[in-house]
Amino acid sequence: MTLVGRDARVTPQTGPDAVVAALVASAGAAIAAAKTTLGEIGAAGLSAPGPLDHTTGVILITQNIAGFRDVPLARLVERKLGGPKVFLDRDTVMAAIGEGTIGAAKGARDYVYLTVSTGVGGAIVSGGKMLRGATNTAGELGHFPVGFDRDVRCRCGSFGCVEAYAGGRNLAEAYGVADASIVYAKAASGDARASALIARAELALQNLAVGIVNALNPGRIVVGGSVAEHEPAHVIEPMRRAVAERAFKVPAAAVRIVPSALGADVSIIGSALAARDRAAGKGEWFL
Ligand SMILES: [Zn+2]
Repeated sequence: MTLVGRDARVTPQTGPDAVVAALVASAGAAIAAAKTTLGEIGAAGLSAPGPLDHTTGVILITQNIAGFRDVPLARLVERKLGGPKVFLDRDTVMAAIGEGTIGAAKGARDYVYLTVSTGVGGAIVSGGKMLRGATNTAGELGHFPVGFDRDVRCRCGSFGCVEAYAGGRNLAEAYGVADASIVYAKAASGDARASALIARAELALQNLAVGIVNALNPGRIVVGGSVAEHEPAHVIEPMRRAVAERAFKVPAAAVRIVPSALGADVSIIGSALAARDRAAGKGEWFL
């Protein structure tokens, strides 16, 4: 698979209309960069933060962009684009499809994709099929509660979520800086408060990893996202240690915890693969 054209731009913060306009403009620029035309495009994939319903193409709510509640994003973009059918899914689901098809989970039928980035998210594949749940929101692993401290509030409205400890934005806010990379740098230079926050984030990820292994028995856990990519010693390695030390022995021996193979392009590649399959009539995705 080859990426033949790309365009990136900042997400507008002024509501759905502005986001739709930016998406359509960006699609036009990417098509131009690829030296092709809209008529040549068979299907379009659209990845977005959840929770959302991929079957209806509706964003249920986002915590990061104002004005998004029950927005039929796929239909709005499709109408404005005036070309191929648009297939929406959660960014982490798209990433899992990319990693499972041509990336670090290739060959596995039971795996979990986990992103540790600004936030923490995931997707679960069981028996070669995406785990969707009763209302298509399954796999939000960042909001698995791992702590009892009610003061560690999460944007989702709960407390003690993995994201509330280990999300890059949460780490940065807890320390009082703009970016999590500063917290990791402070800890590396011996700052006790930064080190304590990072130790707490590691423990949250370790508890999540042990829970995933014991509850889901995956063959692989693929860990992506910018924090995982830049700080593997504080993300992937502690998860491996905890699973070796504390998870049930049989599922612990069966799982490999590995970095993403597709890196920053994982959701773009997954979106293209998902759109191709869904346009071909594979309503649900099977490996
Ligand atoms: Zn939460």
